[in-house]
Amino acid sequence: DPTKEHLLGFEFEFDLFIRPDTCNPRFRVWFNFTVENVRETQRVIFNIVNFSKTKSLYRDGMSPVVKSTSRPKWQRLPAKNVYYYRCPDHRRNYVMSFAFCFDREDDVYQFAYCYPYTYSRLQHYLASLERRNLDYLQREQLGLSVQQRRLDLLTITNPEREKRVVFLTARVHPGESPASFICHGVIDFLVSQHPIAQVLRDHVIFKIVPMLNPDGVYLGNYRCSLMGFDLNRHWQDPSPWAHPTLHAVKQLIVQMNQDPKVSLEFYIDVHAHSTMMNGFMYGNVFEEEEIGQRQAVFPRLLCQNAPDFSLSSTSFNRDVVKAGTGRRFLGGLLDDTSYCYTLEVSFYSYLTAGSTSPVPYTEDGYIRLGRNVARTFLDYYKLNNLIDESKPTGHINRCIMQSHISLNHSNGTDLGFVFVFHILMNNIT
Ligand SMILES: [Zn+2]
Repeated sequence: DPTKEHLLGFEFEFDLFIRPDTCNPRFRVWFNFTVENVRETQRVIFNIVNFSKTKSLYRDGMSPVVKSTSRPKWQRLPAKNVYYYRCPDHRRNYVMSFAFCFDREDDVYQFAYCYPYTYSRLQHYLASLERRNLDYLQREQLGLSVQQRRLDLLTITNPEREKRVVFLTARVHPGESPASFICHGVIDFLVSQHPIAQVLRDHVIFKIVPMLNPDGVYLGNYRCSLMGFDLNRHWQDPSPWAHPTLHAVKQLIVQMNQDPKVSLEFYIDVHAHSTMMNGFMYGNVFEEEEIGQRQAVFPRLLCQNAPDFSLSSTSFNRDVVKAGTGRRFLGGLLDDTSYCYTLEVSFYSYLTAGSTSPVPYTEDGYIRLGRNVARTFLDYYKLNNLIDESKPTGHINRCIMQSHISLNHSNGTDLGFVFVFHILMNNIT
């Protein structure tokens, strides 16, 4: 292959096979491995030869992440060292090759598909939150996974009064680690002393399930649970023995929905996307246009708060393949005053206003998007007047739309127009 000529002169070449998801060989994407016992200046090519995907952001500059013992912060490899191509040696499968030059003999090197966020990391984080004894934070074990791991539920609110509920879930797809950083950002912000967080806790109950598929995360799966189920296709009828975590979350939501004292207004399920850039949302299609317009309000406000959130990639659909997802199922269950979204974020990068060069996401970039999701509820519920002006509220980044719009070959210039456009498109199909 012509692209591999660049790699001539490397001393070693390894073909690596991704272990498929447990009980489901169709999914082979996530990898995370270490290399040790290297020589200084040793130049090596790694070929990952059995990807199950064909479309990939590797074509657009995405690269694996790496860290080592002496440099513990994850970094993305330079894109110029990464090649993605159909390989004649591997039955014309797509192969991702990357070149790496080791430099420290005592270091252990670790390579991964994206920044890992493990089950143990979440457990440590939640334990550290509990140790702070915050009166507005409650941690419960909502259930156990098939392999008896914790299904955690956090409730963040100032006790007292009846309030509206915002329900957030993440990691139903275990390989989508950026979803955990977003969730981490939401939680960190909501438990902080930031004036916006204090107002939000007074007016909203946040229910957060940070890891819906703990076994899948622990096992290193990309899409499935231990038993090979894509849990995000089983919302209609989850079984207590085959999909216990999903079953527990669904039961809780159904119960809340039947409780006249509870007003469940938002359900947001956080994912990561392997072929799109930016953060964006999927929503449901409503018969009445006015409801569709109201559903567009939250993404529009989020776009004003988050420079990496794209309104033009946000869309509303009723695809058959998405039936059985949390967003679609709960959209059917809950009434018209509740909004259900999937929040997606790119595994790779975002485009900012007026720029054509993508900015690769860092761990902090994902966390920042989570903070911005949380603070957007202040705008949504029009609570801004309750913020004490004497305290700093932090900088809210403005979102400008040109670059996203031009990518879509749309000549729309105003946000309202872009939204109506999407809604119409979906009503036609
Ligand atoms: Zn997903």
